[in-house]
Amino acid sequence: MTDFTGKKALVIGGSRGIGAAIVRRFAKDGANVTFTYAGSHDAAQALATETGSAAVRSDASDRDATVQTVAEQGPLDILVVNAGIGILGNALELDADAIDRMIDINVRAPYHAAVEAARQMPEGGRIIVIGSVNGDRMPFAGGAAYALTKSALQGLARGLARDFGPRGITVNIVQPGPTDTDLNPSDGPMAGMMHDFMAIRRHATSEEIAGLTAYLAGPEASIITGAMHTIDGGFGA
Ligand code: NDP
Repeated sequence: MTDFTGKKALVIGGSRGIGAAIVRRFAKDGANVTFTYAGSHDAAQALATETGSAAVRSDASDRDATVQTVAEQGPLDILVVNAGIGILGNALELDADAIDRMIDINVRAPYHAAVEAARQMPEGGRIIVIGSVNGDRMPFAGGAAYALTKSALQGLARGLARDFGPRGITVNIVQPGPTDTDLNPSDGPMAGMMHDFMAIRRHATSEEIAGLTAYLAGPEASIITGAMHTIDGGFGA
């Protein structure tokens, strides 16, 4: 448990999967949590009711909407940008517009949300983006575009850590490996292949990812910044 009493947190992309586990964990630990979603209205409303958090529909592929949502929720003690999509397949055949939309959600939204949050963020604030071990390692074909979006977050963290460090604001990336969600079910067709790359041959739970995120958002992590935190069962080892 991390004591988030009195802290205001915004989770971008919190209706399902890892984001929903982060909402649950932060709310349980006492934070005042707002989360965004794009399509999963019913899941978002149910989670808001369950956790006492607030749900706001805001599409992360829309820069203006994202910036406006962050500005309206501020000042934030904690920003977590979790929203992300994964488009895998033959690079010669994937739809170019779909790839660009993934870059909008996975790269442009975290950057603009982080910068906007920092405008109002108090001393000691926390910015955490959910990246992927694929930012470090892409061991199978078809993942170039997804991997590039997650590698880009590494530069984001290193650079913004320098920009906001003088104010005690930390910027970190959590890099999960295979994690059991709608995006990557533990019984999905790629699960066995993924487990073959791992030292601990199972998907993580969303709660395990939320635990690391809570640590980085908490008071013990005030000297951790500009860093990537891989939680992947040895996928990248
Ligand atoms: P899910 O598909 O299970 O959930 C994605 C969440 O992001 C949903 O709450 C969804 O909301 C939200 N979201 C997606 N697109 C948008 C958008 N345009 N605007 C606002 N919210 C959006 O994914 P995961 O929980 O598995 O993934 C979460 C993050 O973790 C992603 O960044 C992903 O890349 C990363 N990751 C996941 C891994 C895995 O194995 N699962 C491994 C490594 C990294 P809604 O449904 O309402 O649109």
